[in-house]
Parts: sequence; C-alpha cells; structure tokens
Amino acid sequence: MRVAEYGEADKLVTFYGADLGRVTGIAKGAKKSKQRFVNKLEEFSLLRIFYRPPRSPAGLLLISEAELLAAHLSLRTDFRRYAAAMYLGELIVRFTRDHDPDRRLYLLLAWALAALDQGKMPHQIVLFAHLHLLETVGYRPELSRCSACHQPVRAQHRYIFLPGSGALVCSACSSDRSSHALHLSVQTIRLLASAQSFELDRLQRLHFPRHALAEAMAALHHFSLHLLQQDIHSWRLLRSLMSDRPLRHNASA
Ligand SMILES: [Zn+2]
Repeated sequence: MRVAEYGEADKLVTFYGADLGRVTGIAKGAKKSKQRFVNKLEEFSLLRIFYRPPRSPAGLLLISEAELLAAHLSLRTDFRRYAAAMYLGELIVRFTRDHDPDRRLYLLLAWALAALDQGKMPHQIVLFAHLHLLETVGYRPELSRCSACHQPVRAQHRYIFLPGSGALVCSACSSDRSSHALHLSVQTIRLLASAQSFELDRLQRLHFPRHALAEAMAALHHFSLHLLQQDIHSWRLLRSLMSDRPLRHNASA
C-alpha cells in the first residue's frame, strides 16, 4: 500500500496481506537490486511476498523477494484512479492495526484495486469499498429507518445523515436546518442500502447519479472522520476530481 525509501539502498513497504493483515516490511537493497524487486514494490500492486518474520513482535518483516501478480498500472498513471486508490489506502491504514488480519478486508481491497484498474467510475468504486469497509470493521451505517421515530425510509420524506452515529434522521424529527447538515435523498439512501446488501461481484450493477454519489461520499467521509477522530488527507484531492467534465472538454478540444 505504501512504499518509502529507507536509507541509501532499502525500501520500507506497508502492505495488507491475506494472512498477515497490515504489516510493514523492509526490502534490503531494493533500490539497487534490479532482479528481485524492480517495478514490483510499487503502490497498489498485488504481490506475492516472500519474507522472514521480524526478530521482535514489533519489528519489521524482512522481505526477501516479491512476485508481481497484478501491477494495476493505471492506478499510478490515471489521476482520478490514483486519487481513489490513495483515499482507499488511507482508509485501510487508519481503520486497521498491525498484525490483525481480516480476510474480508483483504478480499475487499483486492476487489477494489482490480475494479479501479479496470473500471470507468473510480469514485463509485471507492464509495462501495468505503461502505463495505465500514461494515467489516463494525460500523455499518443504519440506512433503513429514522433513528429517532424509527419509521422506515419513505418516499417524499427528507433525511439527514448523522455522522456522529452513522444513522438517519427524518425531517420531522430533526431541527437541524443548517447548510452543514448532510442531506441524503431517498434515492441515495436506497442506492446505498442496495450497495450494503450486494456481494462485491454484484456491486458494479448499481449506478449512482452524480448528485447521489456526491452526497453519499460526503456522508461516509464525515462518518469516518468522526470514527477516526483524525483527518483523511486524500479526501480533498478525491473530491476535487469529482467533476471531471471540464477536463475532458479541454482534452478533446
Ligand atoms: Zn423521524
């Protein structure tokens, strides 16, 4: 997930492994060794890693070799996909601890990176991954009813998402009329609820219109900010790339 230079010759690599969870390893000589590591220890790539365990529980893995399974090259060359992968990587790092493997999280990350590499809608992939990530770590947003009056979500009603609890409140129960409130349309709520219930391989059947995508992403982002109690730095870049239309017009002119 993350690669950093370390000293003159080495690289520090943070990755999420199916059996290891989030771990950081050191690849000795990675900056010099063309054979063992070149073009492999890159961000967002899928690797088979050969390693020796750390000498102490808090120590670094010693990465001896890496085999490239999927480079996901477009995540490092396409700016929107890059921003999406950065945001997802940051969420995974913040919501996990070292040496605490969860196979569902590994599968979710592998699915999302592959989908981002192939797909045309990086923001929507990130939204799906964010929603399923929250569920996996135990914070499934409650999207079926108003958390105050407990009435199921109904058409013709208006709803606000509460980032402090990950729940909805209907306009009849809420006194918050401020522009800072996270309004969710009923269409957005229904799409999110479908995305929650779908398995990963069915998610791409859903399509979020632009306004639904924007308000859903903002809701999950603010929920995560509240849960993590710290900034998620790559959000600004990701959000600024939501409206890609002007860029495309320039490119085709
Ligand atoms: Zn209510």
